[in-house]
Amino acid sequence: MEDEDADVGGVVTESAINARLPFATHAEAYAALEQIGYEAPHVAPEFSPSELVAATQPLLKAHGSTLLDMTSTVPVSADAIFQALTIIGLNAEAHSRRDRDVAVLIQRTAANTPSFLFGTHWGMVQVVGPEEASKQISANATPAILCFHRGRQIELPSSVCHGNAALASKWLTDEITGSNLFSCALCNTPFVKKTKEQGIIIGRVAVTECGCMIRPECAYDCIERTGSHACPVCHA
Ligand SMILES: [Zn+2]
Ligand SMILES: [Zn+2]
Repeated sequence: MEDEDADVGGVVTESAINARLPFATHAEAYAALEQIGYEAPHVAPEFSPSELVAATQPLLKAHGSTLLDMTSTVPVSADAIFQALTIIGLNAEAHSRRDRDVAVLIQRTAANTPSFLFGTHWGMVQVVGPEEASKQISANATPAILCFHRGRQIELPSSVCHGNAALASKWLTDEITGSNLFSCALCNTPFVKKTKEQGIIIGRVAVTECGCMIRPECAYDCIERTGSHACPVCHA
C-alpha cells in the first residue's frame, strides 16, 4: 500500500468494487477463512476497540500522539462488500501520513472478522498472487489488530486476543513509538520476540493484582530471595 492511487487504479473495476462475500452466516465465512489458511479465525480479542483506545491513549500521550479508532467503519455482516477493508486501510494509511501524531486503529472483532480477514487476504493476493498469499497466511498468526502510523502498517497477531486491553495497549504503544513498555517490570526483557522461523512469539506474562507485569521466572526468583509475597515492583 505505498501509492494509493496507483494501487486502486490498477486493480479495482466497477463490478469488483460492488462484489460481496458469498456467505449467509459468520460460521460459513469462518470455515472458508480456515480453508485459505487462517488459524482460528473465530478467535477475536476479548476487549473492545474502545477499551483498547482508553488504555492506549495515556501511554501515547507521553509521545505526543493519539489513537484514532476507525474499527466501526469495517462492515459486520457475513456478506460484506469484498473490498471494504482495502478502502478503509488506504484511507487510514493516508490519514496517518497527513497527521503524523495520529495512529489509526482498525481492530478485528467477532462481527467484522469476515470483512477484516477476507480484506487482508484480498490485499495480499493483489501483491503476491493467490498461492503465495495462502502460503504466507498459513505460516503466520491470524492478525487481530491493524494500526497505521506515519504511513507504516503495524499488525498485532492473534496472540494479543488472549490478553486484556492493558497488555495490548503496551504492546501497541511499543510498536507505534519504539518504546519498551511491554516488558518485564523487573528485568526489562520484552515479552514479544520476533523470530525468523516461528514469527512473533509472546512470552509468559505474570500480571500481579496491582497490575504490574513481570516474567513468572522473575516473580519466583523474588519470592525465593525475599520470602515476601508482596508485588516486587510496586510493593503493594
Ligand atoms: Zn524479569
Ligand atoms: Zn505492583
